Amino acid sequence: MTFEKLALHPSILKAILESGYTTPTPIQAQAIPQALAGHDLMASAQTGTGKTAAFVLPSLQRLSTPATKNSRGPRVLVLTPTRELANQVTDAAAKYGKHMRFRIGSIVGGMPYPPQMRLLSQPLDILVATPGRLLDHMERGRLDYSRLEVLVLDEADRMLDMGFIHAVEKIAAATPASRQTLLFSATLEGNIAKLASRLLKNPQRIQIATAQERHENIEQRLHHVDDGAHKHRLLAHLLSGVDVDKAIVFTATKRGADRLAKTLYAQGHPAAALHGDMNQSKRNRTITSLRSGSVRLLVATDVAARGIDVSGITHVINYDLPKSAEDYVHRIGRTGRAGAKGIAISFATPGDFAQLRDIERYTRQALPALIIPGFEPTNKPRSSSSHQPRRGNGDAGQRHQGNRHRYGSPKQAPGANASSGRPQSSQQRFPSKNAQDGQAKPSHERRPNEGNNARAHNRRPESRGKSTTRTASFGPRIG
Ligand code: AMP
Repeated sequence: MTFEKLALHPSILKAILESGYTTPTPIQAQAIPQALAGHDLMASAQTGTGKTAAFVLPSLQRLSTPATKNSRGPRVLVLTPTRELANQVTDAAAKYGKHMRFRIGSIVGGMPYPPQMRLLSQPLDILVATPGRLLDHMERGRLDYSRLEVLVLDEADRMLDMGFIHAVEKIAAATPASRQTLLFSATLEGNIAKLASRLLKNPQRIQIATAQERHENIEQRLHHVDDGAHKHRLLAHLLSGVDVDKAIVFTATKRGADRLAKTLYAQGHPAAALHGDMNQSKRNRTITSLRSGSVRLLVATDVAARGIDVSGITHVINYDLPKSAEDYVHRIGRTGRAGAKGIAISFATPGDFAQLRDIERYTRQALPALIIPGFEPTNKPRSSSSHQPRRGNGDAGQRHQGNRHRYGSPKQAPGANASSGRPQSSQQRFPSKNAQDGQAKPSHERRPNEGNNARAHNRRPESRGKSTTRTASFGPRIG
């Protein structure tokens, strides 16, 4: 499949090629032809799959022909759960539509009303909005949907999670029944399926492999820790006792990476740091050393480690959790490459709940928590998720190997010692790998009163981050 085959308007195609894209991503290859054919869509695709272009490109294609109705309201309305996502969509439309002429604006919460009122009083082609604020304007009679052709629900599952269901339904009900509706969501089941049955007409269903499915060969584990000192002790224990052959240890900061690499090196580990403050030739040398095996513990930051393709990484250790769930998936993808097995271990402090929740939602998987005697967290984790170790059906039961480093020891594929039946060691208890069996639920499946995660989760999304109401017109009008 190529973009040329999608029969997009030449102005759109030009912008795509200028973006450096050569091939449509799977969601684009499946969704764009269906959307161009006028079908309603319900598509499962997460951030990072190219889903924005999957709905922006067909929407721009509509704008390449003149509107059939004469009014000032938007022809395309995109609803997003957060201001940040609204901004991303607006930026993407600006990028892919840069050779077209159209007006785009965003209406998001937490921003002053007057510029938004001005925006809505002028002709608009694409409106990107968060549901709460949009409904607010709607109820004051400021929206004209008479020429609306496309309604996009982006990250519909998050909108529902955030309590926007009524706003979304009211907005949809106010738009013409003739509209095309494109729904994108991480999941298409449960409440999303119900919403879709109310808002979509004979939708085409598109399912793209989830991040979780793409990492089936990576065994993920979680350790709750109290603080930095606890992390230090636990890392030393894991490195001494577990069959770590080659690992990347991720830290949140460059300085943290330097410090930890020095400490590990002083402890006798063949460790080195990799981060953005190092010049390129030093970075290259470090990667070469990792490849050759003279470095076996790379302590890295996200930016530096992105795209590292070194075979034989047996472990990824999230010493600090990543800021975004996407980064988590990128990080763990450094192991388990080319069909090999890998182990991804994450440390989470009590302050990491929001990050942990995001990771669980994104991967749609509760990270199974391990408790190693002598390394128990002092405070019981507030989350209901993944703390209770499960007996029986033990997987990945790594027995403590004693105090010896395993670098260069005869290799055993990580996870290869996964046992069925009960864990081998009476000292270590391991939860089920698939912790969705009642022991631990991803946060998005929890009810609002199930702990702090859920509370944070239900926070008003429009009060996060920074954003502005923006309008833009681009280039000569086409079509
Ligand atoms: P999204 O999932 O829409 O947030 O997109 C994730 C990233 O993929 C964005 O940085 C896009 O610019 C990029 N992207 C989208 N489509 C393509 C493509 N066909 N080829 C390469 N990169 C893409």
